[in-house]
Amino acid sequence: MSDFDVVVIGAGIGGMVAANYLVSLGMKTLVVEQSHHTGGNMSGFSRKGYYFDGGDQSFESLGIVFPILAELDLYDRIGWTKCRYRMKSPDFDFFIDSFDQVEEALQSAFPEEPGIRPLFREVRKVSEFIDANCTPWEFPLLHRFSWIHLLKLLPHLPKLQKWIKFSYREKVCSLIRNPELREWFTQIGYYRMPFIFFAGFWHLWMKDYWYPQGGMQHFHDLLAQRFTQAGGALRFNTRITQILSEGRKVTALQTTEGERITAKRFIYGGDYKRLVLELTDPTLWDSGFQEKIKKARLTEAILNVYLGVRRSPAELENTLQAPHAFYFPNYKVIFPDPYSPRDVHRSMWVALNHFGKDNPNAAPPGCTTVVLQTYSSYFWENCWLNGSSSYPRSVLYKQFKNEIGMQLVDTAEHILPGLKDDIEYLEVGTPLSLERFTLNTEGSTGGWCYDTDLSPVFRLPGLNLIYTPLSNLFTCGHYSVWPGGVISACLSGKIVANLTAGRKPFATLKPSIVDF
Ligand SMILES: Cc1cc2nc3c(=O)[nH]c(=O)nc-3n(C[C@H](O)[C@H](O)[C@H](O)COP(=O)(O)OP(=O)(O)OC[C@H]3O[C@@H](n4cnc5c(N)ncnc54)[C@H](O)[C@@H]3O)c2cc1C
Repeated sequence: MSDFDVVVIGAGIGGMVAANYLVSLGMKTLVVEQSHHTGGNMSGFSRKGYYFDGGDQSFESLGIVFPILAELDLYDRIGWTKCRYRMKSPDFDFFIDSFDQVEEALQSAFPEEPGIRPLFREVRKVSEFIDANCTPWEFPLLHRFSWIHLLKLLPHLPKLQKWIKFSYREKVCSLIRNPELREWFTQIGYYRMPFIFFAGFWHLWMKDYWYPQGGMQHFHDLLAQRFTQAGGALRFNTRITQILSEGRKVTALQTTEGERITAKRFIYGGDYKRLVLELTDPTLWDSGFQEKIKKARLTEAILNVYLGVRRSPAELENTLQAPHAFYFPNYKVIFPDPYSPRDVHRSMWVALNHFGKDNPNAAPPGCTTVVLQTYSSYFWENCWLNGSSSYPRSVLYKQFKNEIGMQLVDTAEHILPGLKDDIEYLEVGTPLSLERFTLNTEGSTGGWCYDTDLSPVFRLPGLNLIYTPLSNLFTCGHYSVWPGGVISACLSGKIVANLTAGRKPFATLKPSIVDF
């Protein structure tokens, strides 16, 4: 185990992108993953003849993800479905195909409301900005950097400064008079998400959300296959419990079994809190920084209900009419916490995710799958009646999570009538499950929270945590570049691979794309 140039800890998208770049750059690379498969938050699983995407159900490119996959010769090996979004409530039911369509639908649901058009005027400005600066295939600052591009951005800086604030979002949303609708617009999305992300999501939902045909796990299997075919080594069921160091250098990684793995350089693609608070020598970190990391708020956890249903993919698609359909029983966007009432999930929004057509073999004949999602909380109801995060779970936990799963099914019936009667298989993934499978603290879905006032990364130099106090250790993944998600995890993977190989951070593998 001592002849590797680099060991990557964690086979999420961040770690696997890094590993693929490294083997392409001729470095002998080992990836160690605690789980039995790659993918982390994007992995999938099969049960009783059904395949489910376990966490993330689709993702954006923003001119970063697709060019990275193209560089790795993977983009063309996957069929991509552009995801359509549908929003339904007791008052409206619309598709996010165009801003005109959205505004018209909302205006006819709330005819007296004067604020819808002014609000979307500002949302459209962000969308135009994104269109001009980053399409699914081009994020010019990364791929075709020139000083001209930077100069072109300068006039937009004052606007960007406003858009990056949650308070600006509150201000723009206060144009809406109807208090419930105002609350919905102000809170929808991750907790206290700044205006640019709120408006940016409307843009992405319309233009830039993609599903890899065959499923998320198939996509990750291709990443793993490319890596091993290029000579990389991949070890599953190997958890790193200590990063051993001397002075400012990592000397070895220690596994749960006490085995030591050595290499010249290391990349950590797992949970950042654990890196600082559990895995490394605490004296390496400034005490103020450690405290900040300990207290840092994370992105919200999501509750997943995996359903195998007795309906054909075509039938379900005809009813849902979009792979991502959201039902809002009211306009209160709740972020559950330990004090939320026991029936909190009953009144929350539900997303129905269905990709039956894109995964023809993912269910027994005549059946298909749908994954329900909403926000949840790790500590709610005394860790879901489990008492703590400990494993194995209590008997009550299993019964309780199924009960909450059925509450989500009840809400989903507003958009998929008769669903309850057609359920063949039901499994519920709580924030505790997500933490267990990915080691993301409290089942956080996308790294640090999106609130610019609370995110620690936002107040650290460089908007990134890629560098560590150890000279031969970099980090990648959704904690290392803010805001977290597939885009930043992918990007960080490319950056750390380049830095590890002694190259410029954004250097490309293909000569046709200009380096800087
Ligand atoms: C329900 C849900 C919905 C989402 N929706 C979106 C979306 O719409 N758009 C978007 O961009 N993003 C979305 N995300 C977020 C996105 O999936 C993640 O940000 C991204 O996949 C993170 O990738 P990563 O490589 O940073 O980390 P992870 O996926 O967390 O992977 C880390 C890997 O490291 C392994 N690991 C950790 N510690 C160790 C250790 N000590 N030893 C060995 N292995 C270790 C873990 O097992 C894991 O496999 C969503 C996530 C979820 C859960």
